[in-house]
Amino acid sequence: MKEQIQDDAMIRIEGLHKWFGAFHALKDIDLDVARGERVVICGPSGSGKSTLIRCINRLEIHQRGRILVDGIELTDDLKRIDRVRREVGMLFQNFNLFPHLTIMENCTMAPIWVRRMPLEEARKQAMHFLERVRIPEQADKYPVQLSGGQQQRAAIARCLCMSPKIMLFDEPTSALDPEMIKEVLDVMVDLAKSGMTMLCVTHEMGFAREVADRVVFMDGGEIIEANAPDDFFRNPRSDRAKLFLSQIL
Ligand code: ADP
Ligand code: MG
Repeated sequence: MKEQIQDDAMIRIEGLHKWFGAFHALKDIDLDVARGERVVICGPSGSGKSTLIRCINRLEIHQRGRILVDGIELTDDLKRIDRVRREVGMLFQNFNLFPHLTIMENCTMAPIWVRRMPLEEARKQAMHFLERVRIPEQADKYPVQLSGGQQQRAAIARCLCMSPKIMLFDEPTSALDPEMIKEVLDVMVDLAKSGMTMLCVTHEMGFAREVADRVVFMDGGEIIEANAPDDFFRNPRSDRAKLFLSQIL
């Protein structure tokens, strides 16, 4: 079932198109993300960043082109979708923790029920990742008892408990108060430096400069340019990227 491709593209997107009804949201997107590569996607609101990232774990369905994740092509086949989702952790703007479960339970539920991990092992693993995101003392609290920054770090720990090969981030700090942004970015920098393959929609250009191998700029459903961060920030090629950077930097 798995047509393993013989290269190290972790994500391969070829000629991707997506329509919402008559609206053409993604136009002929080509993008490869190599194993261990960290790619930041930026661009104005409405440019298709979330739609693109959501296509990668099939929260949105594309109509043309191909998406392969670790060699598995995304099609209607539910088994494939399930296999891709097991490899991909996704972090949204709004944390999406289960409100009725403690942080520990949030982190152990999927490993126990999806991976059949024994409870004690799942708890040990959860504690390990909660320490890594620096909130071990919050394990027995409910999400509502945590600050936004702590909730987002808990959400990262929960993803890590499923041993993802790829992490997708969709503006993970944009709903946070300014003083909490850094604590989440610090955890993301850590993760980036650990060798995780990351595709990250963010306007945190400090983060992009520090860890991104490439910055992809989107506008109007297209990739307008993609370059190393230094190059992109110092010498944006397109007028649209210049305008965008002048507005956010
Ligand atoms: P971004 O994340 O870059 O702000 P999005 O990917 O959310 O942009 O949206 C890209 C475009 O697609 C926008 O014009 C948006 O209004 C439209 N869009 C997104 N989701 C839907 C949907 N479910 N139905 C119709 N249009 C949508
Ligand atoms: Mg978005």
